[in-house]
Amino acid sequence: MLPDVLNAMVAAGKKRVLSGSYAPASFTRLGTLLQSTDGDLSLDLCFRRDRKNRILLSGNISGQITAQCQRCLGPVSMQLDLPLELVLAERHSGDDRTNADRDRYYCDPANLELAAMVEEEILLSMPMVAMHTDDDEDCRKTYQQSVAGVAQRPFADLKNLTSRG
Ligand SMILES: [Zn+2]
Repeated sequence: MLPDVLNAMVAAGKKRVLSGSYAPASFTRLGTLLQSTDGDLSLDLCFRRDRKNRILLSGNISGQITAQCQRCLGPVSMQLDLPLELVLAERHSGDDRTNADRDRYYCDPANLELAAMVEEEILLSMPMVAMHTDDDEDCRKTYQQSVAGVAQRPFADLKNLTSRG
């Protein structure tokens, strides 16, 4: 299974390959955005060093998560398939910034907190507003009904007045 904390320097030296899974419920920050924490997220990770002796983490995060649709408030399931290509670096490590071809993940490489890294990558990939697609009929209907409901209230009041006489 996946360790909580991993020495990425050692892992890169050994070209370690790791795979495992996490329950979405184990991510506290992500959990607040999810409507359901069912399912799990699969992880495939591979550590190595590049020619500049930097620690590279490549791999993939995949799985299904259930967020709340911001239009109809129903569950909207999102398929995650995130390729990872990260340079693990300590902040202020002074490595050259001109080679910005890879994303950096700032951490203590000797004590890489795997779950935190995975959660951050997922959060970065999520849309600001989770929503069903526009061709989702149920979502559109629910939304139109709630808009229509608000618009009809003045007429309902009018009806009460007229029936009173
Ligand atoms: Zn919706």
